[in-house]
Amino acid sequence: MYRTHTCGELRIVNAGQTVTLAGWVQRARKLGGMTFIDLRDRYGITQIVVEADADPALVETASSLGREFVIQVTGTVVERESKNAKMPTGEIEIRISSINILNKSVTPPFTIEENSDGGEDIRAKYRYLDLRRPPLQRALALRHRLAQEVRNYLDSKGFLEIETPYLIKSTPEGARDFVVPSRMNPGEFYALPQSPQTFKQLLMVAGYDRYVQIVRCFRDEDLRADRQPEFTQIDCEMSFVEQEDVLEMFEGMMRSMFKNALGVDIPNPIPRMSWYDAMDKYGSDKPDIRFGMEIHEVTSLVKGHGFGVFDAEEYVGAISAPGLAAYTRKQVDELTEWVKRPQVGAKGLVYIRVNEDGSIKSSVDKFYSREDLEAIASAVEAKKGDLVLLMCGPKRKTQTRLGVLRIELGGRLGFRDPKVFAPLWVVDFPLLEWSEEDGRFYAMHHPFTAPKPEHLDWFMSNAKEDLERVCANAYDFVLNGTELGGGSIRIHNADMQKRMFEVLGIGPEEADYKFGFIINAFQYGAPPHGGLAFGFDRICALFGGQETIRDYIAFPKNNQGRDVMIDSPSKIDAVQMEELCIASTVKE
Ligand code: ASP
Repeated sequence: MYRTHTCGELRIVNAGQTVTLAGWVQRARKLGGMTFIDLRDRYGITQIVVEADADPALVETASSLGREFVIQVTGTVVERESKNAKMPTGEIEIRISSINILNKSVTPPFTIEENSDGGEDIRAKYRYLDLRRPPLQRALALRHRLAQEVRNYLDSKGFLEIETPYLIKSTPEGARDFVVPSRMNPGEFYALPQSPQTFKQLLMVAGYDRYVQIVRCFRDEDLRADRQPEFTQIDCEMSFVEQEDVLEMFEGMMRSMFKNALGVDIPNPIPRMSWYDAMDKYGSDKPDIRFGMEIHEVTSLVKGHGFGVFDAEEYVGAISAPGLAAYTRKQVDELTEWVKRPQVGAKGLVYIRVNEDGSIKSSVDKFYSREDLEAIASAVEAKKGDLVLLMCGPKRKTQTRLGVLRIELGGRLGFRDPKVFAPLWVVDFPLLEWSEEDGRFYAMHHPFTAPKPEHLDWFMSNAKEDLERVCANAYDFVLNGTELGGGSIRIHNADMQKRMFEVLGIGPEEADYKFGFIINAFQYGAPPHGGLAFGFDRICALFGGQETIRDYIAFPKNNQGRDVMIDSPSKIDAVQMEELCIASTVKE
């Protein structure tokens, strides 16, 4: 037997017992002839002591230990003289009679403790060492717990976990595919699934009316903003359901995850907001509703006062930042520069300072009377001490920019506490999105999303304004300004699916080549169905109170899509290339 207990297990009640522990040497230090060793495994740390008058061979071995040596020790549990209240095992130590070095270690390139001294790159290269650190072990344990919760809950509701293939053909989530050449079918390629979307719908056609899969998805996107080329979804689909059924089922799932993993009660029911309200009030389809500072349209209040900048634009909107009337001129100027950065894209910022003493000062005093400014301030519900900020331009773009500013100021004002959880369903998405650039419609969600039945006339119309008005029974689950999941009620009728492809400018031949299998399947008694998928990595990070998903993935990739530990992607040899009938166009 390698060990009788783990390194996180022994307490004062164990005093007097003879135990054997195995683990890694986090630290070994000499103190007045005694050697103290912090022995670590994933359960915790236990203090090991070799007394000064112990067997000289034992003392000698103890002093030869280096960091990360793997050892096995046997000894007696004794009460410590100086207890450490911060450690669960801090009341005891093990006075040992033997050490067995199971393996040596070269000196690790960074400290393997709660906080490491290693930079991100070096820790990524030695990920297996970084993973020994408690924060990462807690992260992966949380991930495990949440996956168990998902499975328990959905199992209790009759869901079957069914695997779908990874070597498939392009799926419609709108990103680039990763492709895999087929040796047995020269010149042909599989695509890795961006999601199991089409397969889960085929499972509904096949009658498996409640499906779940915690599944890897692959999207070849630029990896800005904390994305990974392979990530995990909780992918679900149900038959004979309407939107209400789906929302209720997965509200229940989220509620049980919050309760059982964090002991947190989330609002019941979870609030809902239409996509249109989300855009108008928060300038985002994933509003952070932990705080107010809503956007208000003030177009009619500001036009016609001789201020040409506002008069020329479609839309003027404003937010009111509590307490920021105290911002100095310099701070407001900095904020103006901040919104002008390409990431925000605003042309400028107009301010109205509603001072504590009741006076009002603005950057456009020339054009507006005190009454005018008061009217604007009251339209945005500004109170004494608030700073009202206005932007103008095309409606949706301006709302989005105000939304970005709102998030920034909400953060600065301390309104975005990661310990506060504000979930939200965003519903009633438009079905289609017009691309000026490409002169065509794209599916806002994906092309299998059904139009709302009451909007069918518009859906069948060929007029752009009609198609733009069509809403879908599509829904997103949003938490603290992050989209954690989304889905929709699907099309289950072949003609309707064909119409959808037509609206998207996908001709019958292309539709048949890419999605013929699903149109075909819809001819054989496809049931009404709908579902959704959650981003599991992000759920883990948010539950863990962290911004980045990387810590919740055992072996993540960096921003260039590289795994720097195994050094991948990498070249393959000429023989392999030839077998696969592929050639590289990269000049060496
Ligand atoms: N397949 C969709 C996605 O990955 C989710 C869904 O519609 O169920 O976003």
